[in-house]
Amino acid sequence: MNPYEKIGLPKIINGAGKMTYLGSSAIEPDVIEKIGMVAQGYVDMELLKPKIGKLAGRLAGAEAGCVTACSAAGIVISVASVLTGGDIYKVEMLPDVNWMPNEIIIQKGHMVNFGANIAQAIRLTGAAVKEIGMVTGTKEYHLLGAINERTAAIMYVVSHHAVSNGMLSLEQVIKIAHEHNLQVIVDAAAETDLSYYAGSGADYVIFSGHKAIGGPTSGLIIGSEERMHNCQIQDKGIARMMKVGKENIMGLYFALEQYSKRNEEKQVAEFEKIAEELQRLLADIKGVTTKIKWDATRPIPRVQLILGKNCKLTGKQMISELEGGNPSIRTRNHLVDEGIIQFDPRELKADELPVIAKRIFDILA
Ligand SMILES: *Cc1c(COP(=O)(O)O)cnc(C)c1O
Repeated sequence: MNPYEKIGLPKIINGAGKMTYLGSSAIEPDVIEKIGMVAQGYVDMELLKPKIGKLAGRLAGAEAGCVTACSAAGIVISVASVLTGGDIYKVEMLPDVNWMPNEIIIQKGHMVNFGANIAQAIRLTGAAVKEIGMVTGTKEYHLLGAINERTAAIMYVVSHHAVSNGMLSLEQVIKIAHEHNLQVIVDAAAETDLSYYAGSGADYVIFSGHKAIGGPTSGLIIGSEERMHNCQIQDKGIARMMKVGKENIMGLYFALEQYSKRNEEKQVAEFEKIAEELQRLLADIKGVTTKIKWDATRPIPRVQLILGKNCKLTGKQMISELEGGNPSIRTRNHLVDEGIIQFDPRELKADELPVIAKRIFDILA
């Protein structure tokens, strides 16, 4: 019996993907073994954090890095770093920002909730949020018109949570920001191509350690040595409340070492095999059809279960049936209002696929 079932929590089949609310990633056994070794000893934390920050930042393709508790903490700490620079007095003053610049610009279509509100993560530092554009689109004049002496940085979100149409591209934002001597912070929490963002010209890029990288709960900011130093010193201020322990600092590094050596083609082929097998198992179930749909920015093939017009359940009812059973089957649900439930192959195991197919068959029978 797994330890979660022992304390009365349901066994999970994770078809949702690498979701923070499900514990994100199953960590590789040899990463776990290394974490076990470091957990048993001591280390000078003030030396460890910048050391691993640098090594991890390099592995991600940047000059340096800063390990955080998670991406959400990475957002707070990057904004704090923009506000304070290297001034330790200002670090201790946050969130009482009585100096300028202190405004963070963000496109309306990037005002996401990733489990919490991104605007709150920005405001936690004392910075003010300035939304620009509309959910239907942002034009360059929106950004140009919003920039003034109060502007500290521009936040850019890369995510399926964000509006995908009509937003200014990362290239456009970086170009305009740098022409105005402004920094760009990119929330790329769940992205897979770390070096692309490292090379994008963005000043801060934030990744989750527990999503694509597959490590323990953690985050990684990457950028220049100076900026990452300015992130590290937030530990003397508001980042103390977002502390990351030695196990997770080292665990992120071990996972990133593996991630940087991975054979992506082979991995994607395995995801495809899982997706195709699930699609095959679902093929004969009446009332639903399936389709394989690739993620917009990452090489992830997902199985879409499309509920037909005559399907006796709504998407929400189907999800609740899948979740309510034992094991609890979790799916990717942001298209549910269109009658589409998605299965992400990354955390699914071959022996779980028939269980999913049988459950859907039984629900619809
Ligand atoms: C998951 C996610 C976050 C939050 O990441 P955590 O590491 O769980 O804090 C923030 N932004 C985006 C775009 C995400 O996908």
